[in-house]
Amino acid sequence: MREGQVEAERTSVGVAEARELILGAVAPLGTETVGLAEASGRVLAESIRAGISLPPADNSAMDGYAVRAADTAGAPVTLRMGEDLPAGKRSQRKLVAGEAARIMTGAALPEGADAVVMVEDTETDGARVVLHRSASLGQHVRRAGEDVRPGTPIAEPGAVLRAPLVGMLAALGRALVSVRTRPRVAVLATGDELVEPDRLRDDGRIASSNSYALCAALREIGAEPVYLGIAPDEPEVIAQRFRAALACDAVISSGGVSVGDRDWIKRVLVSLGGKMRLWRIAMKPGAPLAFVWVDGKPVFGLPGNPVSTFVTFEQFVRPALLRMMGHTKIFRPVTRARLDAEYTKPAGRAHFVRVALEERAGEWWATQSGEQGSNILLSLVRADGLAFVPAEATRLARGESVAVQRVHDAALAAEPGI
Ligand code: AMP
Ligand code: MG
Repeated sequence: MREGQVEAERTSVGVAEARELILGAVAPLGTETVGLAEASGRVLAESIRAGISLPPADNSAMDGYAVRAADTAGAPVTLRMGEDLPAGKRSQRKLVAGEAARIMTGAALPEGADAVVMVEDTETDGARVVLHRSASLGQHVRRAGEDVRPGTPIAEPGAVLRAPLVGMLAALGRALVSVRTRPRVAVLATGDELVEPDRLRDDGRIASSNSYALCAALREIGAEPVYLGIAPDEPEVIAQRFRAALACDAVISSGGVSVGDRDWIKRVLVSLGGKMRLWRIAMKPGAPLAFVWVDGKPVFGLPGNPVSTFVTFEQFVRPALLRMMGHTKIFRPVTRARLDAEYTKPAGRAHFVRVALEERAGEWWATQSGEQGSNILLSLVRADGLAFVPAEATRLARGESVAVQRVHDAALAAEPGI
């Protein structure tokens, strides 16, 4: 297929339109059942309701004595020592009038008892116990079902299995839970100039940093990277790597997606039967991006410059994968911040500016974290976020407010915010 035909499918689109197109194309993957110990961070695929009461029975909130509150009126009073009730032991008999049962925190109250006197307010000789204070009805008693009762809604599909929810499922006696499958995502670098970092010599070649950054970014969201190494700029080799890559749930390549003679990605994907959904987005860094549907799988042909790779991954690939993982919140959180210096640019493309965030007198300020070239990694390393300057904007004055995507913040937002 000729380059012109590929390009004809779509010209440059805006960031929001591209995001909607990509997110509209992907859907949650299947589900699997995992043991609770492996469930951390996964996305729930079932609706959870309590099947039992928590606590299962009225129990003591203190170490002390289970009593009948009425017996303690006019304290100090002396009661006969009854049963001994450590946590986990059920009482064998009813507590009768004039009696106190020694009870530990969490132990079920014996029938007949309606209050607990804490050990600090008592004295005992083993056979009798003196209570120095009277007890009110229900004092230091945790009621059966005060946490949850059978049928209480606990969590819905899309909830993330964080520690408290994992703990709740365990408390309810659940050993297995249904979660969304994690996507296996192929990562392919392309370019004759690329070598693995441990092969880096002073011979004009550069390390394929994108491969490693992408694998790290995938791990961060709990997706499983499948590393496919570096393909040279040869269409047959690239095609063969993509064929292997399509065994995964999604494919990310970097480089070779522009209009140079050696930029084969689009042509190869079309030759594999791919349907070009998107190419070229009105943004900087990262204008060329091929979003191609091949064999029912989304393929993201990201640009090669490392900052373009990262920024396009952040805008399009990360939320798409989070959606495939069943997350309902899929975006980075956004903070409004004031620009620390004037920013000018031509109209036409939206800019994502690497910035450091600083709070001054209760307001956030954004300062460029270094040079903004699409090959400059250090300013990305030093950035707290990406400030969004809309396509139509040409000049933002110092102090003007911008939306900053906090790209190191693991929290997820329901809306893109830009
Ligand atoms: P390309 O679009 O293939 O011309 O790549 C654009 C720029 O990104 C070139 O300077 C490439 O050397 C560089 N580049 C491409 N792939 C990678 C990669 N995996 N890691 C680091 N830089 C890359
Ligand atoms: Mg290249």
